[in-house]
Amino acid sequence: MTPEEFRQHGRQVVDWIADYLTRVEQYPVLSRSAPGDVRRQLPAHPPEQAEAFEAVMADVERIILPGLTHWQSPNFFAFFPANHSGPSILAELLSAGLGVQGMLWATSPACTELETHMLDWLVEMLQLPASFLSSSAGGGVIQDSASSASLCALLAARERTTQFASNARGVASHLTAYASSQAHSSIEKAMMVAGLGRENLRLIDVDAHWRMRPERLEEAIERDRQQGAQPCLVVATIGTTSSGSVDPVPAVAEICRRYGVWLHVDAAMYGTAALCPEFRELFEGLEYADSYCFNPHKWMFTNFDCDCFYVADRAALIRTLSVLPEYLKNQATQSGAVIDYRDWQIPLGRRFRALKLWFVIRTFGVAGLQAKVREHVQLAQEFARWVESHPALVRVAPVPLNLVTFRHADGDRATQQLLDRINQSGAAYLTHTRLDDRLVIRVCVGQTNTQRLHVQQLWHRIGTLIG
Ligand code: PLP
Repeated sequence: MTPEEFRQHGRQVVDWIADYLTRVEQYPVLSRSAPGDVRRQLPAHPPEQAEAFEAVMADVERIILPGLTHWQSPNFFAFFPANHSGPSILAELLSAGLGVQGMLWATSPACTELETHMLDWLVEMLQLPASFLSSSAGGGVIQDSASSASLCALLAARERTTQFASNARGVASHLTAYASSQAHSSIEKAMMVAGLGRENLRLIDVDAHWRMRPERLEEAIERDRQQGAQPCLVVATIGTTSSGSVDPVPAVAEICRRYGVWLHVDAAMYGTAALCPEFRELFEGLEYADSYCFNPHKWMFTNFDCDCFYVADRAALIRTLSVLPEYLKNQATQSGAVIDYRDWQIPLGRRFRALKLWFVIRTFGVAGLQAKVREHVQLAQEFARWVESHPALVRVAPVPLNLVTFRHADGDRATQQLLDRINQSGAAYLTHTRLDDRLVIRVCVGQTNTQRLHVQQLWHRIGTLIG
């Protein structure tokens, strides 16, 4: 493809995306593809000769579109959102166009320095602790996902607890970690990946509102210490996946401080809400965290992948993730004057992801981002009130922000039937969880273009289904 052809096809693709976003509401939100439907339409073998770009785009429309669940539909209320926006898409295109590999400062200084700057901007925007600033002993880095951030937090915690990187004996099987029974499954996975074993993750009981019970955490740590284990990491969650509950971070932090255990706080979706001063009380105690993560790729209009991961002291993280082969040695690294983000993550290579944060923050402005978040929260709270007022429905968990959980008063079968009917209609997509061993429907309001009308339409549909 010559630059001239690229210009022409690039315009076609941008037009196609703009059209897609205009018509996305017309499609069933949840894909109706059956297993194998997409592959059946693809040729068994790759083409020997070059094909026309138009032919490829025609197949996107014909084969790919029907096989999509439309995450950018304003009627997508499932899981947590993975929202995006025009500026974020364009920044991704620019990132691909520049094709920069930012593993070292020296391999593209702008890639590293813009990232450091964006992570510092976010400290100010979200009023995060000053210890997360790059000018302190800590700092922030973009990870691909909250799962990677939690794994890195675990590895840094292991390092601080055992000096793992310089410990020739290797794996420390006596290390234990703690998270509430409502914590995300990525914590369990991190334990598996790090070789610490899922059986060494203690799932701490929660209270009636699905928040970690600090006294149970302390009991578990005490018990493990008495049995010769070394407590290494506690993960507190601000916005659990199932119910949106918020662990009592100050009380958890106090226990971590007393026992010298690393505290990681996972605010994958709710983290964005700290943009608004009125929601910041949910983030109380963050100043005691050793590490923190949230996902602009969930609720800050920045397309996947973009997780912001902060540490209060970067020493353990870097020590445990640094290896420096000869071919990567360079003057800037050796001067100690630059950040090499390859030492802050598991892979070596990294994309220029800070561009999309830069574009989003500048084109929305902080006030624009706050307005969107407030609108989503207000819509979710309104939806929660409608649920509460309906005799056939039971709202399940408190709704501090944009996630509403409810069930049918007649039990699991009726709840499942309601969920299936909504999803089969194609008009909206909702997902489920289990709380107190009962099936629960989750409605998460967070898509970039979700407006009151969409939430009203959902409510209307629920109303006609339950009578
Ligand atoms: N933490 C919480 C609370 C989540 O809800 C999720 C996903 O929804 C994750 C972590 C994992 O996020 P990621 O897909 O960025 O790994």
